Amino acid sequence: MQRQGEFSVSVTKDYLVFASAHFITFAGHRCEGLHGHNYRASVTLEGDLNEEAWFVFDFVVLKKIMRRLCDDIDHLVLLPLASDRVKVAEDGEVVNVAVDGKPRYVFPRRDCALLPIPNTTVEMLAQLLTDRLRAELDTMGARGITAIEMEVEENFGQSAVYRLGLR
Ligand SMILES: [Zn+2]
Repeated sequence: MQRQGEFSVSVTKDYLVFASAHFITFAGHRCEGLHGHNYRASVTLEGDLNEEAWFVFDFVVLKKIMRRLCDDIDHLVLLPLASDRVKVAEDGEVVNVAVDGKPRYVFPRRDCALLPIPNTTVEMLAQLLTDRLRAELDTMGARGITAIEMEVEENFGQSAVYRLGLR
C-alpha cells in the first residue's frame, strides 16, 4: 500500500490521572499556597509504522508505562529539587521545605515526590513525564519513534504541551 502521510498513536487523559498536591513560585516573590489538582496526562507518539504489526507502538505497552509513571506521582506532594527559591531537604522520615529562606512545610517523606525540576508547573511536569517515558522506551529498545508529545492538564481547559523530537 502506498503511503505518504504520517502516523501517530495517542493515549489520552481519562486513563492517565494523578491527584497530587503542589505549589508553584512566580516571578518576583509571589508563591502559591499548597493545593491539589486532579491532573490528567495525554501522550502522543509519532513514528514509523512497524511493518510487521502495522502499528506505530503497542497501545497496551504504552498505557502500562504511562499508568506507572502517573502512579509514581499520584497522591503525593510534588516538590521541585531544582528550584532557586524552594529548598527541599530530606531529614530522616521527613522533608523540610523552605521558600525564600523561610521554613514553610514539613511533610512525611513517604508522602512526597521529589522531582528534578525547577517548578511544579504543568510545563515542567510534561517535560518530566516525557523524559521518563523516553527512558522507558530506550530501555525496552523501542524503535522508530520520531517524537513524543505530552500534555498535562491541571484544570479543565488548562494544560501545557511539551514536544520532544527524537530524530
Ligand atoms: Zn496548582
